[in-house]
Amino acid sequence: MSLPRIELIGLPSDANSSFERGPAEAPAAIRQALWSDRGNLACEDGQEIGVHFELTDRGDLPLTESASDDALIAAEVEASIRSGAVPLALGGDHAMSHAVVRGVHAVHGALTILHFDAHPDLYDNFEDNPRSHASPFARIMETGLASRLVQAGIRTLNAHCRAQAARFGVEIVPMAEFTPDTVPVLQGPLYISIDLDGIDPAEAPGVSHPEPGGLTVREVLAVLRRQTAPIVGADVVELNPRFDSNERTAILAAKLVRELAALMVRNERQSLMTLG
Ligand code: MN
Ligand code: MN
Repeated sequence: MSLPRIELIGLPSDANSSFERGPAEAPAAIRQALWSDRGNLACEDGQEIGVHFELTDRGDLPLTESASDDALIAAEVEASIRSGAVPLALGGDHAMSHAVVRGVHAVHGALTILHFDAHPDLYDNFEDNPRSHASPFARIMETGLASRLVQAGIRTLNAHCRAQAARFGVEIVPMAEFTPDTVPVLQGPLYISIDLDGIDPAEAPGVSHPEPGGLTVREVLAVLRRQTAPIVGADVVELNPRFDSNERTAILAAKLVRELAALMVRNERQSLMTLG
């Protein structure tokens, strides 16, 4: 029997970043950290890349900074799933997630989304750009791509985004009240989006919008470990290598890629065993 396969898709665009450019350089930085001899290919649950699952790579998509990028991303994500893989997108800025979720939704229907971020990214219209990286979850919710959205790490909720969260029924676990067990264990099909600025800037300095008082890496991993539903796609976004320090945020992004991949494989095996 062939190994389960997780597939990277590089999305090198920061065209919809509102403040700093740089996330377009992230997919290359994450791949470099992922395959560097400085690290290794073991995940915390003991699974190893290449032994217990395959991690393939569709490469970087030829994005053009135009609205047509979204259709290309969605089509590639859908093609990845139909080839038998589970897609794991490497941003790019967080605007990418709307298009990735569209591609996953085309196969799996309405999703449950677990979203780590300092910011809710629910702006109806940020700086007159509906594709802004401040708005992907408004676009996802208003088009019905997700039936449930749970956000963790949030510590910048303004009145507008609070109203948007109420409008869409978004479940926000505020950072001020966070412990790993305050994040619900979710039903599938589950999509996981990790904006690296959800993690504290002490551990993830290489982001465009650092916000103190964030999640620790261990807390993110604890939330992930508790999730048992089949995971149908994920993204790791908003690494900005221009602000990184000794590549530590790129190394963190690579670790999260490994841990997400291992979780995808673990949960898929468990659901197969449950089905008998
Ligand atoms: Mn953010
Ligand atoms: Mn974000």
